Amino acid sequence: MKRVLIIEDEQDISELIALHLEDMDCNITSFRDGREGYNYALNNPFDLMLLDINLPRMNGIDICRSLRTNKIKSPILMLTARSEEIDKILGLETGADDYITKPFSIRELIARVKAMLRRVDIDTNVEESEIIAYKDIHLDKSKRKVSIANERIELTPKEFDLLYLMASNPGVTYDRKDLLNLVWGYDFEGYEHTVNSHINRLRSKIEKDPAAPEYVLTTWGVGYRFNDA
Ligand code: CA
Repeated sequence: MKRVLIIEDEQDISELIALHLEDMDCNITSFRDGREGYNYALNNPFDLMLLDINLPRMNGIDICRSLRTNKIKSPILMLTARSEEIDKILGLETGADDYITKPFSIRELIARVKAMLRRVDIDTNVEESEIIAYKDIHLDKSKRKVSIANERIELTPKEFDLLYLMASNPGVTYDRKDLLNLVWGYDFEGYEHTVNSHINRLRSKIEKDPAAPEYVLTTWGVGYRFNDA
């Protein structure tokens, strides 16, 4: 049974989500107060967290960022009310894995949740150690660790998945739809910019000069590939 935390102050939305996730055999814990939810999330393990942004006492962005600072690695799906909040989520290094904009259809939410929970299963079932090394970069799949010149780089789960996928097949170009399908597990119209934002953040962490990348290259007009030169 998957443990899912919902922090959402709108009771109707929270109950609707809980109802559908319970049908998927999830064990739901919900909070309407941001600060209470945050304190609980710090001390209890979850397979997935759904965070609203505008919450009493502590907002979703601060919750997400503080959880990551405290090394809580559960996948986080942000529920955003306005499109301008998306830029906030993606731009501020919150460490969220994905977002969905309100009003959302339950069908779409369920698709996201399933994709994220599948990811958890895959991660916890990996036992073999798969190491990729290229120039200064070193990726360890089982430990989900990345280092450059022996220095540890902190990546979000999605950034790691993106990098590992491309580095496993150097020289192969993935378009944005491919990456959405393979890394996020879904392909909804209009979410391709999610890929671009994650690539930009990934580059800012691993590339000496993100404008002239050495590892994750752009295939102009198509997508991205890992360097095979
Ligand atoms: Ca709210």
